[in-house]
Amino acid sequence: MRLFKSLHQHVTPTGIYAVVMCLAGAGVFAYTNQWSFLQYSSSEWVTVYSLLGAVLILEYFTFQLPPASNKQSMDSSVYLACIFVHGSEIAIFILFLTSLIAAIRDYKLSWWKHLINFSIYALAIFAASTVFQLAGGPQGPLDDRYIAGYVLAMLSYFAVNTVTLGLYFYLAYEGSLKQLRRAFVAESLLVYLCTLILSLVLTVLIYHNGILGLVLFLGLSMLLSHAFKQLFDMFRDVEEKSIMDRRTGLYNHSYFENVLESELSAARKDKLPLSLALIDIDDFKKYNDQFGHLKGDQLLGFLGNLLKKETEGTPITASRYGGEEFTLLMPGYTAEQAYNVVNRIRKKLNDSRYEGVEIFPHGCLSFSGGISEYQAGIYDKSQLVDQADKALYYAKHQGKNTIHLFGSFNATEREIDLAQDVRDIEQQLSLFLYKDISTFKHSKRVFKYAMDISEVLGLGQEEKRRFVLGALIHDIGKLEIPWDILNKREKLTPEEWTLVQGHVTWGRRIVEANERFEELIPFIELHHERYDGTGYPYGFAGEEIPRLCRMLTVIDSFDAMTTERPYQQAKTFEQALEELRACSGSQFDPELTRIFIRYIKSTHPVFPHIRSLH
Ligand code: GH3
Ligand code: MG
Ligand code: MG
Repeated sequence: MRLFKSLHQHVTPTGIYAVVMCLAGAGVFAYTNQWSFLQYSSSEWVTVYSLLGAVLILEYFTFQLPPASNKQSMDSSVYLACIFVHGSEIAIFILFLTSLIAAIRDYKLSWWKHLINFSIYALAIFAASTVFQLAGGPQGPLDDRYIAGYVLAMLSYFAVNTVTLGLYFYLAYEGSLKQLRRAFVAESLLVYLCTLILSLVLTVLIYHNGILGLVLFLGLSMLLSHAFKQLFDMFRDVEEKSIMDRRTGLYNHSYFENVLESELSAARKDKLPLSLALIDIDDFKKYNDQFGHLKGDQLLGFLGNLLKKETEGTPITASRYGGEEFTLLMPGYTAEQAYNVVNRIRKKLNDSRYEGVEIFPHGCLSFSGGISEYQAGIYDKSQLVDQADKALYYAKHQGKNTIHLFGSFNATEREIDLAQDVRDIEQQLSLFLYKDISTFKHSKRVFKYAMDISEVLGLGQEEKRRFVLGALIHDIGKLEIPWDILNKREKLTPEEWTLVQGHVTWGRRIVEANERFEELIPFIELHHERYDGTGYPYGFAGEEIPRLCRMLTVIDSFDAMTTERPYQQAKTFEQALEELRACSGSQFDPELTRIFIRYIKSTHPVFPHIRSLH
């Protein structure tokens, strides 16, 4: 009755498969054996027991080959050898006994799964034995005239095994056929070959030396299994070391990058959300300074542990990005969902009791976080990280111990943000106050022009930010040029000119050291390129130079012309505009020059009539 009910529940493709397989297995057993085991002689029972023991031992001493972790059992070689020496009847009877033992050992697994397992192997053994007989293979000693028969037997054994087992996984787990082929055929070819060779060796050993042969075979298999296990453990160990960060127990930076790349392409393909959180411990330097680096390391481990615990059992990958920064890569999470998770962890950290937290401004352990969500325009993994970094930077500036979502800044927040960046760059430029005050003043004037021109060009917030900061920082490389060359009154020698021209490259190197301002590099590096392609350092022409860099060149040159320099007298605004016009199309972009001239005329009191026309 229970059997009937259970089958009734399984009238699904898997259920039908189960019934058909069970019937086939039972049929094969009945057909091959026909209760003859009741009349086995004692020598036959010895054969059965010894081969059964061998199968059970080999089930335990598996072969585990890197990189796949699936364990390969060599018990199939015993069944094949048994077919070759004793025929299918004994082989299937041994299989029956092993399945019975497995059913007792694994009694929690439902009975029909044990029965299916038995049937799959029974069919494989039956197929191999039938093919072997059809190929004329002799039962008994190994006969080298029938090598084809042995190979065909092995092939049919694995063909039936793969198809029946594969069909089960296909129906039960709805996998794709392609995946199945990879899993069952490609990875198993080497194993098939090993099994065939081992079964032939075992055939020789059993036939000529009986139990001693079997024992020798088992000894060899056990040694090999042990060696493979050692190799596999070593492989696992090395693999783990190469992807883990030891200090925090989280994944390391390079593993994070790999996962980020694959998750990004998955998000792109499946159109599923993907968020990235970048986390940075607040005022960690203070803790290090107060208690030393070793205590600092322990704190890193503490946070690592917390992140690990809080993300366990979720699809989130927690990694140490570097120093005291961590990432949580969250596939399937929108920015808001990610925010909730990270904020919960932040509160938990705030509430954690930890020695020495009183030195922190918030009086507790805390971190700031930036979150960015994948959007359609993102094509490179660094963009997602950059956005999270910007949001993190913003969170820090909001007073730390807070989390910010990228893109949720409002206009006023952006202004505050820009003002802070301007202050930071000005601080770096203040070195010019002693070295070359004219460069300091020049940079500030160019910045002011750039602010105005941003309005004229109608730039968006982000573009404006980059443009004005680029204008402010563009000459930073001059810090590397010797004082006496910068302040020389006479004409520069060709060597000195080359040195001065190097400021665009020096500037790039200076800014490269500070990730925050990396996006300003084009302004620093390209502001001496010319529209006709005769500028430096690359000799880019026309549109090869980004538009706002071409604009900066106009502003920069205009300001250089109109202010006193050690080596030249200042031009009047009118003269400078004349010069701009003259060089429009060669040094400067004609359209941008026109825009700039119109702007100067409209704002400078020298041109009142034009101003009133506006
Ligand atoms: P903020 O709140 O702005 O993030 O300030 P902060 O002090 O946390 O950040 P800052 O970037 O100024 O300093 C980070 C410090 O982290 C400096 C560095 O010595 C320390 N650090 C980086 N890696 C390790 C590490 O592996 N062990 C220890 N103990 N300290 C580290
Ligand atoms: Mg940091
Ligand atoms: Mg920090």
